[in-house]
Amino acid sequence: MTTIPKSHPRLNSLLIREKLVNGFDNNLVAKEGLLAHGRGEAFDYLIGEKTSKSAKEAIKAAAIMLKNAENSVISVNGNFAALCPKEIIQLAKNTDSKIEVNLFYSTEKRKKAITEILKKSGAKEIFGLNKKSSIKLSGIDSARRIVDKNGIFSADVVLVPLEDGDRTIALKKAKKKIITFDLNPLSRTAQTADITIVDNVIRAMKLLVKESKKSIRGNSKYNNKKNLQVSILEIKKNLERQAKNV
Ligand code: ATP
Repeated sequence: MTTIPKSHPRLNSLLIREKLVNGFDNNLVAKEGLLAHGRGEAFDYLIGEKTSKSAKEAIKAAAIMLKNAENSVISVNGNFAALCPKEIIQLAKNTDSKIEVNLFYSTEKRKKAITEILKKSGAKEIFGLNKKSSIKLSGIDSARRIVDKNGIFSADVVLVPLEDGDRTIALKKAKKKIITFDLNPLSRTAQTADITIVDNVIRAMKLLVKESKKSIRGNSKYNNKKNLQVSILEIKKNLERQAKNV
């Protein structure tokens, strides 16, 4: 473990990076996951490393969607498990959602490491582990299309964090409502999802857990396209502010 001075101006971002690196050393995170995190970090820099107003709106809408779902599933990959295992369990409890381990770069070793950390954090039942109940989504290639028959395959709402565009599109084609966390408001996933939370998952999950404790039911007037436009404008404003200080 590295020692990061408490006074470091980017302490939070370095602590998050350390979680990912530890996750990589413990077989949770794939090499590609580290690269995806790097892309996320760059966008986090642009949004000012804090939760924006538009992200708070998306978080509220996500809590409503999860609480109104018939059969919601939280899809877990290595980065998500390394960054916020406790919040995954808390959110599943608050919203009565299932948890499915679903990996872009799937290996048995990584699946096992992710399962262990989820169980250690309090997960009772985890989907996506039993080959007998796996089924293929159409429209995408390779391991990415394999989902659990009793998990994502039969879900109406799926929370897919830090997801790749092809899979998000395939899930939409399969008529799922999609909630995602993506620091990049321009990614295909961000643009395809029904609710895109443009924030670091480590900050946003804490807020989503808090929001999902409230007894919210009914429809929200949330519009993802409009919200994404606002989040892009928030980045622009932040950059303009910074430009004045150069
Ligand atoms: P797409 O295929 O959707 O166009 P992409 O090619 O950028 O996007 P990936 O690299 O597979 O997709 O996904 C990584 C995404 O996750 C990136 O958009 C990145 O901004 C985002 N991301 C990475 N780390 C985090 C994080 N900690 N919190 C939120 N989003 C993150």
